[in-house]
Amino acid sequence: MTVLQVEGLAKTFGAVQAVRDLSFILRPGEVVALIGPNGAGKSTSFNMLNGQLRPDAGRVVLGGRDITGLSPRRICRYGVGRTFQITATFASMTLCENVRMALLAHHRRLWRFWRAAGACFTERAMELLDLVGLRDQAGRAAGVLAYGDLKRLELALALATEPKLLLMDEPAAGMAPDDRVALMTLVRRLVQRRDVAVLFTEHDMDVVFNTADRILVILDGRLIAAGTPAEIRADPQVRATYLGEAGDAAR
Ligand code: ADP
Ligand code: MG
Repeated sequence: MTVLQVEGLAKTFGAVQAVRDLSFILRPGEVVALIGPNGAGKSTSFNMLNGQLRPDAGRVVLGGRDITGLSPRRICRYGVGRTFQITATFASMTLCENVRMALLAHHRRLWRFWRAAGACFTERAMELLDLVGLRDQAGRAAGVLAYGDLKRLELALALATEPKLLLMDEPAAGMAPDDRVALMTLVRRLVQRRDVAVLFTEHDMDVVFNTADRILVILDGRLIAAGTPAEIRADPQVRATYLGEAGDAAR
């Protein structure tokens, strides 16, 4: 059974072949890291999966449905969630209000009706905050949260759209190493229970090798290896071309 099937995905910017013939699958409950040096094509790949970029070639199939080239909105509706950074607009709202907004948007309720409806979705919002360990901070403004808590709020917002696939492009950026592992461990726990698949990028190889079920390695837009952390660690081509410099962290 697969959540996501990617076949021959490609994207070129002018003379740069950012992604070439990328194929892989993701299974339910799997947490998979996409790694590669800067400029390898990680973000371009993510953006083709979430609809921000239209692929030049290839197919993206989500749970049997071809979503290639659809708008980000429709792709989200079909079950591809992603973490967004909390913007200034939402910083003044409480955590509970932020999650309710995400729930309302997902269920296509309008904000002006929500104001009248009052408690609409409060219970569900509190459940989601509970999942990410933020229930006791539900009434605080998002803007005053500690950085690690903000990242967990972003995770709750992504889960509000009930994704089948969660895309996380550098979800732990700016966090301390221990907090990065804690965040990805939380992600694992939450998605495994729901059979959601996760694809994430992360610079810290310690975090990648300690939290991913499988690792996909890309170099110059091309997939050069895919396997378990142990397989990737032992892969001669990966060691030579990529892990060489980060090998200590990955060992
Ligand atoms: P990564 O996320 O792995 O660092 P990217 O996907 O951002 O890599 O970039 C892959 C390659 O595509 C790089 O050479 C980058 O300069 C190029 N690229 C990415 N986005 C664009 C764009 N919008 N226009 C032109 N070139 C781009
Ligand atoms: Mg990137």
